Amino acid sequence: MTALLVTARRQRERAGKLAYWASLDQRQRSERNRRLPTARVRMPLEERLWHDIEPEPNSGCWLWIGAQRNNGYGYLRLENGRTMAAHRISYMHWRESIPFGLVLDHKCRVRSCVNPQHLRVVTRRQNVLENSRGITATLASEIACKRGHLFDARNTYRWIRANGWEGRGCRACGNWRAKQYRAHQSLAK
Ligand SMILES: [Zn+2]
Ligand SMILES: [Zn+2]
Repeated sequence: MTALLVTARRQRERAGKLAYWASLDQRQRSERNRRLPTARVRMPLEERLWHDIEPEPNSGCWLWIGAQRNNGYGYLRLENGRTMAAHRISYMHWRESIPFGLVLDHKCRVRSCVNPQHLRVVTRRQNVLENSRGITATLASEIACKRGHLFDARNTYRWIRANGWEGRGCRACGNWRAKQYRAHQSLAK
């Protein structure tokens, strides 16, 4: 029953907000939409970080007690109104900038930890490989392609995309596909 009452109240609130929003013109809306820096945003970054950090004496983790996303990573709103993952801010503030395309990995496996000493820069691929046994990790650990050609140095070609993802292909299969393609082309003539 209580749950129903709460739902009804939320619906009323939402209807009220929508009516209010509909009563505004475009200029007023964009004015309301602009995120004004709060008092906390104007605090020095280091102070803001410490405000939301709680050091954990046993593991040495700096647990983030500020705002958190559903996936367990903390975040912080910056002065320009955008948000950024708290551990990334911490790393960039106390250590160094993060090269384009690379991600941070928690050595301590604690997502809410923002201790810069517990973080290291890795490629997305490394992160996926070391942290899961997903399809990518399973494929990458295969020693031969699906037709049985060995993934050795001679038979393997690799590529890296700008976002840090890496791929791997079988030369023998590639050659076979090219041959099929040429045969197909000559038949079509
Ligand atoms: Zn940690
Ligand atoms: Zn192959």
